[in-house]
Amino acid sequence: MKENIYDLIGVGIGPFNLGLAALLDPINEVDTLFFDQKHEFDWHPGMLIEGTRLQVPFMADLVTMADPTNKYSYLNYLKHHNRLYPFYFLQRLEMPRNEYNHYCQWAANQLESCRFGTKVTSIVPIGDPVAHYEVIVEELETREVNTYLAKNIILGVGTVPSLPPSLKGMKEEDVFHSSTFLDHTERCHDAKSITVIGSGQSSAEIFRELLKARKENGYSLKWITRSQGFFPMEETRLSLEHFSPEYIDYFYDLPQAQKDEIFSGQQLLYKGISPHTITDIYNLLYEQSVGGEKMDVTLMPLTEINGMKEKEDGTGYELECRQWQKDKKFLIESEVVVAGTGYRPLIPKCLEDLNDLIEWDDKGRYQVTKDYRLRLTKESDSTIFVHSGMQHTHGVGSTNLGLAVNRNKIIINELLGKEIYPVLEGNIFQQFEVEEQ
Ligand SMILES: Cc1cc2nc3c(=O)[nH]c(=O)nc-3n(C[C@H](O)[C@H](O)[C@H](O)COP(=O)(O)OP(=O)(O)OC[C@H]3O[C@@H](n4cnc5c(N)ncnc54)[C@H](O)[C@@H]3O)c2cc1C
Repeated sequence: MKENIYDLIGVGIGPFNLGLAALLDPINEVDTLFFDQKHEFDWHPGMLIEGTRLQVPFMADLVTMADPTNKYSYLNYLKHHNRLYPFYFLQRLEMPRNEYNHYCQWAANQLESCRFGTKVTSIVPIGDPVAHYEVIVEELETREVNTYLAKNIILGVGTVPSLPPSLKGMKEEDVFHSSTFLDHTERCHDAKSITVIGSGQSSAEIFRELLKARKENGYSLKWITRSQGFFPMEETRLSLEHFSPEYIDYFYDLPQAQKDEIFSGQQLLYKGISPHTITDIYNLLYEQSVGGEKMDVTLMPLTEINGMKEKEDGTGYELECRQWQKDKKFLIESEVVVAGTGYRPLIPKCLEDLNDLIEWDDKGRYQVTKDYRLRLTKESDSTIFVHSGMQHTHGVGSTNLGLAVNRNKIIINELLGKEIYPVLEGNIFQQFEVEEQ
């Protein structure tokens, strides 16, 4: 196993590394491998709710924004599945979320560089300056451990569900993160009361789903958020230009403290709810209340949950709430709690052997160059590229599917030391950067 030094080894096969594998596929000059611990490609399976769709146009597929003629494009996927006409008649730019997953599975199954059921357990730098890396990989089914050598690494490990301390330590079947919602639908339907927490897209989709099934199953339903309201994601055209290569360039060059401040003020660019989901929810509320029927449904903004405990009789949980604008504390009871409390960047365990080599900032975040390399503490002939955990350096667009292809173009050009995929400028109408006179 040890003799071949791969040009690039990828850790994780989510959409970002899968897109990279697809764009590298036609290039014969490089030898690459990608590993993922899942037994097949599976994109946020707990949230593939019927009726949900991608929040970006289909052009943000794995390859189109770099090369629409690449055989792993979504349009080619549609052609192979005889769905060009149905998609044409759908008259929508966004594909259903479960179709995005199926499309990515179709691509992953054809890409020989992608290996599933394999977990990268450690990455060891070899040489001083670092000449290459030893990548230790466990085959999860056989428990066999293999070592591969790589000149360069790309981390595409994504994020992990984030549960606030106040919700931790409860029974998993009753109190769970939105990422596992579809595993718990039966439990929800059996419950007498359900509380959904959070006001992002996931919480809204789950609330809509539970609202639809409420009458049939007879539970009471609450939707609680600390935010001031159930606000829409900012999706108007000129706001979308924040998800452009130009804005990333502009943002990257700002001082770190300013970046942190700006990013925390941009939540509605990526954390709000799609307007069509809000409309669906409102329509359901309106229909279900026809004739003044009393609905056991409550929507509460401005409300934080500061603690919870299991009721003594075991029939559910007591949530300690506070309406923070009026500083009023109160309790609510719920049998099931769904936490749409977001995700945080994953610093995988396999980076442990690289801890001293990686430059971390005072908040424990790794430092990333503009062209997506980890900054290292000493000289290295090898590069560790990254796809995730870069919101602090590259801003709001760093987790966006539409920008991932642009990032992959830059990484491929860097890897090969020449321009394979042109990185074009002049993509937006507004100007963030100015020249001082
Ligand atoms: C429900 C949901 C919907 C979203 N919808 C959109 C959208 O519509 N538009 C948009 O622009 N963005 C969307 N996003 C944000 C973003 O595009 C996705 O999170 C996307 O999946 C990120 O891709 P990724 O490749 O970084 O990571 P992931 O998709 O999270 O994949 C990471 C992979 O790494 C693997 N892995 C981790 N550690 C190891 C290891 N040590 N060894 C082997 N494998 C490992 C994991 O098994 C996983 O498969 C959404 C996010 C969520 C949660």
